[in-house]
Amino acid sequence: MPGEGYDAAKVVFVGEAPGGQEDTQGRPFVGAAGKLLNELLASISLKRNEVYITNVVKCRPPNNRPPRKDESAVCRDYLNRQIALIHPKVICPMGNSAIRALVNPSDSDSVTSLHGMLLEVESVTYLPMYHPAAALYTASLRKVMEEDFRKLRGILDSLVE
Ligand code: URA
Repeated sequence: MPGEGYDAAKVVFVGEAPGGQEDTQGRPFVGAAGKLLNELLASISLKRNEVYITNVVKCRPPNNRPPRKDESAVCRDYLNRQIALIHPKVICPMGNSAIRALVNPSDSDSVTSLHGMLLEVESVTYLPMYHPAAALYTASLRKVMEEDFRKLRGILDSLVE
């Protein structure tokens, strides 16, 4: 399941891996976490067809376990090519799997310390976020996610065309 969205999007969201529903439908974030992602996008007046949404790994790991490092590594070239083609202004890795894959190969920090921080890595701008599924388990994270999305809105508004 490669992902979906606008091929010239200013922002790309990267999740962990397709879940059962995503695997069946061939679309990213169509389950409960996707519903929350849609609401967060709407809260900053973004539609799904204005952004690109994908995952670190393109196949569903057995029993929805987090992808292993070797699995992320196998899909890395595909993800790199997607990002190179879309050439977004901002990439939002959502959750630890995406943050580790994209901005933090040393595993030293986690989403708790990195979310909402604007990071420049090799001239690409990243805004790490919590994974929407985390806010389904821990309700208080929803407000944190809303705040991080407002940051994203500010960044997009500050871009000169
Ligand atoms: N969780 C993810 O990380 N990605 C999806 O596409 C759906 C749920």
